[in-house]
Amino acid sequence: MRSDYSVGGVAALMRDASKSTTYKPALLKALARIAHRDDSLNLPLARLGEEFVRLYWDQTVVYHLRQAAVLSKEATAVKLIRATALEHGVHKLGDLPPSEREHLVTKMAKLLTVNVLAAFHSSKPSTMSALYTWDTTETHITLSPESHAFLRNNALSLELIANYHWAAYLEGCNRLAPRIIQKVSREAAHRSSLARYMALLMRDGEAECFYCERRDGSEHGMQVDHVIPWSFLLEDPPWDLVLACRACNAQKSDWLPDYEYIEKLKRRNRTITLAPGYASPLVAEPDIDRFFNAAISLEWPGFWTPAP
Ligand SMILES: [Zn+2]
Repeated sequence: MRSDYSVGGVAALMRDASKSTTYKPALLKALARIAHRDDSLNLPLARLGEEFVRLYWDQTVVYHLRQAAVLSKEATAVKLIRATALEHGVHKLGDLPPSEREHLVTKMAKLLTVNVLAAFHSSKPSTMSALYTWDTTETHITLSPESHAFLRNNALSLELIANYHWAAYLEGCNRLAPRIIQKVSREAAHRSSLARYMALLMRDGEAECFYCERRDGSEHGMQVDHVIPWSFLLEDPPWDLVLACRACNAQKSDWLPDYEYIEKLKRRNRTITLAPGYASPLVAEPDIDRFFNAAISLEWPGFWTPAP
């Protein structure tokens, strides 16, 4: 049988796919990633399940992106992850106990057999061969040497196609979330150091916690905090940065603060002076409200206040 694979063929498959979930871009991404690293033509379903867990975890638990217009309609993969994170009080996938992670992977692998693997090729152009075969009695899918080579040689392009369709779908359900493309594409969140903002944020050489207002004669014990969480904005704009004591910073984590702190932030920004080299523009006050309301509308954990 002649195998006819092309990036254009996969792009057409994605374009014509029914888009009630993000399983197809997720599976394409998983296939490209695994083939890129692994020589085997038999891909265990557990391996795919593991990749699904990795792909959906940050989007769901860290970035709080919805994968459906209403939470109750979310795909089973997302519900499984949300429930696991909640049950174990875990924010980072790396903090999930190994046995629980394995459990989650097993459930995800089972889910693939329900309608994901069999449905993937339904919108495939008739001229293109299937990327894999799968027998419902088997616990692995099978690539041909040609499809494996195609996935490996075009892994980057295929991931870009998957990211595009995944992000386009998420834009529809997360209308006000910033940087959706980055949240879909990035492997892991990379935060840069905020140490350089410490001096900028100290008032007259004194450090005061933005939340509990505890004063400290030095920067010791103070940390730079994002009022609107970094994992929502994915950037470090000076208008969002304040000093927080270690206790407040640790407790707040990536919660949104109570709205009174948004008001306070706006007042603070009216007086902040940005030294040369900190050229990021301050945003207009309605924009800060817009970010706050957007996060609330995505059911971001919110209304945090410091312990008395
Ligand atoms: Zn504090």
